Parts: sequence; structure tokens; C-alpha cells
Amino acid sequence: MQTPKPSLIQQIPFKNKGNIELYIKREDLIHPFISGNKFRKLKYNIVEAQAVKYQTVLTFGGAYSNHIAATAYACKISGLKSIGVIRGEELRPKINENPTLSFAQSCGMEFLFVTRIDYRKKTESEFIENLKKQFGDFYMIPEGGTNTLAVKGCEEILNNDDARYDFICSCVGTGGTISGLINTSSAEQKILGFTALKGDFLNQDIRKFATNSNWDLLTDYHFGGYAKIKPELIAFINAFKTDYGILLDPIYTGKMMFGIIDLIKKGYFLSNTKILAIHTGGLQGISGINLRLKQQNKPLIKV
Ligand SMILES: *Cc1c(COP(=O)(O)O)cnc(C)c1O
Repeated sequence: MQTPKPSLIQQIPFKNKGNIELYIKREDLIHPFISGNKFRKLKYNIVEAQAVKYQTVLTFGGAYSNHIAATAYACKISGLKSIGVIRGEELRPKINENPTLSFAQSCGMEFLFVTRIDYRKKTESEFIENLKKQFGDFYMIPEGGTNTLAVKGCEEILNNDDARYDFICSCVGTGGTISGLINTSSAEQKILGFTALKGDFLNQDIRKFATNSNWDLLTDYHFGGYAKIKPELIAFINAFKTDYGILLDPIYTGKMMFGIIDLIKKGYFLSNTKILAIHTGGLQGISGINLRLKQQNKPLIKV
């Protein structure tokens, strides 16, 4: 996995009274199949897995997991076997109806489907020992891909030119991405994290990896919780695509961008502030989510 060039930054011409400038860093464009922050998070993990001569990488994820899709592809091009422990036994007969899982399978990923109750045991040593009995030794990457090496990769998202922005905004799932951003930011900058899920544990998780304290979490823009998708959010994502030509995903970047624009409208930022939002990718999940929305007779995301 070669290090990509610095990602394109585009200005979002969002008119507002305070002359606040909004920019987006297109990390979603860095790789066609290992998108955005998942590329950053996997890069040094794959290097490590190869250096320690593992033949297999094992990781965890749900039905639309960007991390599962990215890991499957990264392992394929790195000559590693991949195993995905997937939340939800009901998905086993439905691989072909699930674009994320069928993509991962086409990359050679082998799956173990587990119940939601068993999935919660995934960090317990007994659970992991059983996986080793079944699959042999493997290099394990946690759910969402966050560990020290992932944070190291995410420290490469920002570079010196990005010091001109007052605020850096990121979505937060497990906190690895924002930790990398925090570690590379300058003390004058503020990093804002928009949480994609309910949960107060994130502050603690970020403190484990982050070396600075110039950050804050905004917890009011998860739209009811992880992967909860309301028509209002879909309408926002579709309007954003029409107005600015940039597709957002409904689990992470759509919620963050909704939050940023809401905060601008509410006067959260001082006049003339420059904001850089990170587009962390996640677009592979949309087709599967659209299938689910269609079954529920809900409006779809326009791609
Ligand atoms: C996984 C993911 C995130 C969450 O990143 P964390 O490092 O877990 O906080 C954010 N955005 C997208 C698009 C993702 O796929």
C-alpha cells in the first residue's frame, strides 16, 4: 500500500453571514477500494502483519462495514489471507444480497458469522483463543481498525499546509481517526469530532491515543445512534450532492457535514473562521444501505 499524495481540498461555497469558509479534504478519493480513513488505519497494520510474517489477518465488523471491505482488499493486494468475524448470524445466507460482504468475499475474505451476543465477547481472551483453534495464528485488527498503528497512519491525513485552518472536523466512530488528526494538529487549531454513535466512552478512548488536548466532541448529531438513518439526513445528503457535487455517506460524513452546517447557522464559529472537514470516505456502504431503505419504502441516497 503506497502512501498517496496529499488529498485534494475543495471549498464548499456555503454562503453565510459570518464569512466562514468551509473546505473539505477528499480522503474518500485516495484509493478506489480502501477508502479514506480505512486506508490510513490499515497501512501500518499491513506492514506490521507482513514484517512479523503472519499469513492471515483477522478482523471484525457489521453488515455494511467499511473496515471489512477495506481490509479484504488490502489483504488481497498484500498477499495476506483475510478473515472477517461478522456481527449477525442472519447475514450468512445473504452474502449475495449484501454488496459489502460480497465484495469482501470476492477479495478472498473468509467469514465467521456470529450472534450479536457472541460478537460482544470479541475482545475476551477465550473468544480469541477459540478463533485461533479454528483458523490458526493470525494478526488481529480490532473492530473499526483502531490501534496504535492505525493512529500512526491517521497522523498522515494532515500536513503542514493544513495549518491555515482554524478548525479541523472529523467523524468519530472508534476515535482512531480523530486521534491521528489531534496528534498532527498545531496548538492553535481546534479539532472537532462529530460522534456517529451514542456513548460517553469515546472521550476516554481518544485520550488513550491523543497527545494534545485541543479537541472537543459534539454528540448531538448522531440522528438517534449508530447507522440510524432519518429522512431528514437523506434529504440533506441528496441536497449536498446536488449543490456541491460531493457524495456523503449516511453513517459518518453525512452526519458530520449536517452538524458543521448547523453549527455555522447557529453562530458557533467566529466570523472569518476557516474550517477543514475531513471526508473520511465510506461510500462503498451506500448501495447496501439503499437496498435496506428501499425495502422499508424510505427515500434513497442519490449516487
Ligand atoms: C470507520 C469510519 C469512521 C470512523 O473512524 P474512527 O477512526 O473509528 O473514529 C469515520 N468515517 C468513515 C467514513 C468510516 O468508514
